[in-house]
Amino acid sequence: MNIYRKDTEYAESHYTHKFFIRLKGGKMIKIKYLFFILIFCGLYIGCAKKENDPDVLFQTSTINALLEGIYDGAFTLKELKQHGNLGLGTFNSLDGEMLMLQGVIYQVNADGKVYKIADSIKTPFSVVTFFEEDKTISLDTTLDYKSLEKFLDKNLPTKNIIYAIRIEGLFKYVLTRSVPAQEKPYLPLAEVVKTQPEFEFHNVKGTLVGFKFPEYLNGINVPGYHLHFITEDKKGGGHLLECETEKIKIAIDFTERLFVSLPETKEFYDADLVKGKDLEKVER
Ligand code: ZN
Repeated sequence: MNIYRKDTEYAESHYTHKFFIRLKGGKMIKIKYLFFILIFCGLYIGCAKKENDPDVLFQTSTINALLEGIYDGAFTLKELKQHGNLGLGTFNSLDGEMLMLQGVIYQVNADGKVYKIADSIKTPFSVVTFFEEDKTISLDTTLDYKSLEKFLDKNLPTKNIIYAIRIEGLFKYVLTRSVPAQEKPYLPLAEVVKTQPEFEFHNVKGTLVGFKFPEYLNGINVPGYHLHFITEDKKGGGHLLECETEKIKIAIDFTERLFVSLPETKEFYDADLVKGKDLEKVER
C-alpha cells in the first residue's frame, strides 16, 4: 500500500532546501521548497489517479469476508471499471460469478446463462487489473486443471508475487459452477456451494481469466489459482472447477502491487475474518 512512497521520500529529502523569490525592489525572500514540492506532488498524484495504473491489482473486500457471508458491498461496477479491464468476483447478494474481460463485465448466473450487467450494480468481492502481458506461452498439450497449475508454476519466476492470468483457446472439457442469489440472513459460502449448479462444456472455445495469489496472502484472497471461464460466444461460463486444455495461449501479467478497498459496513466491522476455514471446500 505504498504507491506514493516515492513522492513522500522525494518531499522529505528536499524538505530543508530553500527557494528564493525576488520581490519588486530587489528584496529576496526565502521559501521552503516543501511548499512547491507539495504543489508538484498534488498535481502529479492528481494526474496519476486519472491515468490507468496497469501495475496495481485492485481488490474490494477480502475472501474471508465472502466466506463469512458478507455478500453486500458498497462498490459499484462503474467504480470497479476505473481500476481494471480484466478480473473476477461476484455481485451483491452473491448473484452469480463475475468475469471481466476487455473492460466488459459478464455475470454467469445460476441458470448457467451469461448476462451483461448494469454499472449501478454493486460488488461485495472483486479483483481487477489493467492487464498487460509480461509473458505469453502457447500450449498444444492436453492438461487437466492440476497439471495446468503445475505447468504455470514452472513458468513463473517466483511464488511470492501476484499474477493476473488470461488463457484463451480451445478446451476439450471445462467444468464450472455458479452460485444463486442469496436472501438475508446470509449463509456462509461453504453452505451455499453445497447445492451449487455446475455446467459442463465439451470442445469449446473460450477464455479463462483470474489470478494466482501467494500462500502468504491467504485470507486476503484465494491462495493459488482462481480462474473464471467464459465461452467465446459469451453464452456460458462460471467459476472453474476442472478443465482439459487442447490448444491454448497463456498470457501472464506479473503484479507487485495490491490495493485493497475494505467495506465500511457493520457486517464487515463485526465479522471474524481470521478463520477462513472453509476456503478449500469453496474455491477448489
Ligand atoms: Zn470464483
